[in-house]
Amino acid sequence: MKRADLKLDDYVKGILEGDLAILSRAITLVESKRDDHQKLAKELIHKIINHTGKAKRIGISGTPGVGKSTFIEAFGKSLTNSGLKVAVLAIDPTSHITGGSILGDKTRMNALASDSRAFVRPSPSGDSLGGVASKTRESMLLCEAAGYDVVIVETVGVGQSEVTVSKIVDFFLLLMQPGGGDDLQGIKRGILELADLVAVNKADGDQLTQAKIAQREYETAIHILRQDPKWQPKVLTCSALKGEGLDHIWNEINSYYSVMQKDNSLVDKRKNQIELWVWELLSNKIQDHLKKNNNLHTKLNADLNKITKHESTVLDVVDELFEKLLGQ
Ligand code: GDP
Repeated sequence: MKRADLKLDDYVKGILEGDLAILSRAITLVESKRDDHQKLAKELIHKIINHTGKAKRIGISGTPGVGKSTFIEAFGKSLTNSGLKVAVLAIDPTSHITGGSILGDKTRMNALASDSRAFVRPSPSGDSLGGVASKTRESMLLCEAAGYDVVIVETVGVGQSEVTVSKIVDFFLLLMQPGGGDDLQGIKRGILELADLVAVNKADGDQLTQAKIAQREYETAIHILRQDPKWQPKVLTCSALKGEGLDHIWNEINSYYSVMQKDNSLVDKRKNQIELWVWELLSNKIQDHLKKNNNLHTKLNADLNKITKHESTVLDVVDELFEKLLGQ
């Protein structure tokens, strides 16, 4: 049976009342590519924007198998047990490439998903990471308006996605596991640089000693990589499986907020992120517009022939196309 379409006011009321089903449908609306859905989504964001911005926005990443879902489940449960409402948005950058999904697996985080103070939502495939990030940002705003105190954005540690996510969250937690060695477990140094906290997971049983060794290695690495007078990221150990060390991590996150809120740094950080977001969306819009410009295409086709015959160069053609655009 087809569900009845919701009107703008139904969405607004449902979200502000924290109705999970409506929040879920609102995220689907935001993610939809249909023009009428996008128009409605834009109006919806406008209506709820005054109720956003109060959550702690936390990015969590790590390579597949490091224990992200085990961690988020245990960590999320400890937060909901203390009375907080927790939303988890999982970005899966692989799903549009492989057609499969690392994060979309419905069996993940069952205990957290069935907790009345939690909301768990895997993000569907996207055409571009930028696009996914933009939708995740909007989904995050919807979760905030629905009263979530903590919004966790989860990504798989495969590279570019961390950079994207670090641009939409306040605090970036990188999960590692013991036994990495010098290559930093294939995690590029650039990703370690983004971390506001590194947690070496699986610090239990046989792996405890290895975890402590890894902790020291990452401490050395991060000390060299990140010389930030405001915030020096720590490296902690934890066991998501046993629920150990999670309170330390939460304390560290809270310390970060105290530091960042003391002198408006958090406001500035979010403002910079918004600026990046605007530029990104504007660039996308301009690019879409340009691709539809027939005059430009006609000239470009002619120019391509000239370039292949060495009668012109790429740089010259770009300059000419740009001049042509400005003259239009
Ligand atoms: P993800 O792919 O990063 O989401 O990783 P999962 O949460 O699915 O965990 C991968 C495997 O590591 C599973 O077999 C977990 O039981 C195990 N695991 C996760 N956290 C811990 C931990 O703290 N200690 C130990 N010993 N195993 C863990």
